[in-house]
Amino acid sequence: MENVCKFYGEFQALKDISLVIPPGKVTCLIGPSGSGKSTLLRCINFLEEYDRGGIWIDDRLIGYESVGGRRMGGRALREMRRDIGMVFQQFNLWPHMTALQNVAEGLERVKGIPRARAHEIAAEALAKVGLGDKTGNHPSRLSGGQQQRVAIARAVAMQPRIMLFDEPTSALDPELVGEVLGVMKQLAAEGMTMVVVTHEMGFAAHVADRVVFMERGELVAQGSPAEIFQNPGDRRLAAFLQGYL
Ligand code: ATP
Ligand code: MG
Repeated sequence: MENVCKFYGEFQALKDISLVIPPGKVTCLIGPSGSGKSTLLRCINFLEEYDRGGIWIDDRLIGYESVGGRRMGGRALREMRRDIGMVFQQFNLWPHMTALQNVAEGLERVKGIPRARAHEIAAEALAKVGLGDKTGNHPSRLSGGQQQRVAIARAVAMQPRIMLFDEPTSALDPELVGEVLGVMKQLAAEGMTMVVVTHEMGFAAHVADRVVFMERGELVAQGSPAEIFQNPGDRRLAAFLQGYL
């Protein structure tokens, strides 16, 4: 992204954000509440319209036909979003569908994969997140951690170019956090390009390749986990990390 700005009315939520997300790596976004982490993530798949600058995946500009140009139409947006997986804090599963149907739905509807094949791919994706025996359960009959793993399987089954996670473990009971982080670690080890907004500093320190610190809509510091956590030069970053000790 280059010089991305986002306004809500007069309020500037993102201030000239320039950032490279390295392919095949995990980038963690950290920062205080209200610093613009979710806004930044949502701009990447154009759930939020940004007002200036540009965001590219490969060489495709996100959301607009050219820099400063017209907003993409619905169809172009849908096509673009097919390559971007997103996992939210609230799992957003369809309550009336089984785990298998939740994962298969996008494969059938968005990718046009025939039902039988879509169900095969969905079953494989669920097995990979450790839910091979829960494919027939509806969300109400899954734990929070299991629901979130279904949500991850659903996104990954689409074979996205990049996966975005917005505080994927924040809604979970503490004892369920580990199983979800474990699935994300596995995904990282397989070389998925990931951007993860997280308050799990342990995850950021041990799994991230890059850590980006935001405050008040600004990108304040970025670096390797060692640079960010062991030697936080920036005063605001140091103060933020103090809060986690
Ligand atoms: P948290 O850690 O609490 O999730 P965040 O870093 O994700 O915080 P954002 O949700 O990106 O923060 O919000 C950034 C700023 O933009 C906040 O000050 C917020 O109040 C404001 N904001 C977010 N969404 C809107 C909106 N739809 N309308 C107006 N202001 C908004
Ligand atoms: Mg947020």
